[in-house]
Amino acid sequence: MKFGTKAIHAGVHPDPTTGAIMTPIYQTSTYVQRSPGDHKGFEYSRTHNPTRSQLQDALAALDNGKHGLAFATGMAAIDCIVKLLQPGDEVISTNDLYGGSYRLFTKVYQNYGIKFHFVPMHDMTAVEAAVTERTKLIWVETPTNPLLNVIDIAAASAVAKKAGALLVVDNTFSTPYLQTPLELGADMVMYSLTKYMAGHSDTVMGAVIVNDDELHQRLSFYQNACGGTPGPQDCFLVLRGLKTLHVRMQRHCENGRKVAEFLKAHPKVEKVYWPGFEDHPNHAIAAKQMRDFGGMISFVLKGDRQEDAVVCLEKFQLFSLAESLGGVESLSGHPATMTHASIPAEERRKAGLSDSLIRLSVGIEDAEDLIEDLKQAIG
Ligand SMILES: *Cc1c(COP(=O)(O)O)cnc(C)c1O
Repeated sequence: MKFGTKAIHAGVHPDPTTGAIMTPIYQTSTYVQRSPGDHKGFEYSRTHNPTRSQLQDALAALDNGKHGLAFATGMAAIDCIVKLLQPGDEVISTNDLYGGSYRLFTKVYQNYGIKFHFVPMHDMTAVEAAVTERTKLIWVETPTNPLLNVIDIAAASAVAKKAGALLVVDNTFSTPYLQTPLELGADMVMYSLTKYMAGHSDTVMGAVIVNDDELHQRLSFYQNACGGTPGPQDCFLVLRGLKTLHVRMQRHCENGRKVAEFLKAHPKVEKVYWPGFEDHPNHAIAAKQMRDFGGMISFVLKGDRQEDAVVCLEKFQLFSLAESLGGVESLSGHPATMTHASIPAEERRKAGLSDSLIRLSVGIEDAEDLIEDLKQAIG
């Protein structure tokens, strides 16, 4: 089955009692048993819920994976993965990581004796140099946020296999429409479903997709034991969002290209970060592992002054200034004070993240209107 057909049909089936075509919202905490232990596969909704089960199956199918696990937020999904580790274990990750992941790693799990190394992962020799015999997890996010570096997933997988470590890819920016990391050697794919997957800025959720049965069992254990599971209403919203994922992503990519090209040609713009440009340093890897280049773009105005960036952000009419990304509506953000404020200024600068950088999540409005908005805001 091709991607668009799967987005609409995979994992879901009409309700057996009524024929309802849409997955019902099973708003129930418990399930009646005929005799002790004699039930229909559902006992308690933290453990299993039919709306969540269908969403998990749909998610697994989109990534060509075997098992899906849904969580209350993307952070709860990440938290569940890190729980696979023991004190003394080491993790290698990228130095322009999502701010919330960086915070969870350094402010929470470092206190539990897990060691994190942050390296520029688009340079695989830096990853190899950070490997020790205690490396248990390699955490890739690609394209990175907000600098849109592209990390070679197949190469990272080779390093992970040699080190005996598991490879995780945070695929939130790409979605399975653009890239399917399990097929490139990843052991786990992780999502903030809040973004492109749900796509309508109306819910917060996360997921992990895996192929390996044993890994799935271990993650399911923590999913249930720690309890960061989503409610059925949120699962329904994500299921509805997934049905248009391919159509939305196609438009995000088309608009992304138009906006990126407009910005690149603008005399007041110093630098545009977008992996679709042929002169992007990681363009060759992006073209190899991604099916298109997405709608996330960052840019810096000439002069690299934070005051100018703030004026531009205040002037936007369509690019609403807000945290988050991946919804149908365009958003703008200032990583240094918003999404990446939890990363120390020194670390940000080391990673090349300027305090005047503006990040855009290009929505699916008409591109002409988006470009008019950029014109008036940049001036
Ligand atoms: C938003 C985001 C997360 C965290 O997900 P939540 O749903 O906000 O908990 C993790 N990784 C990336 C890349 C994100 O953009």
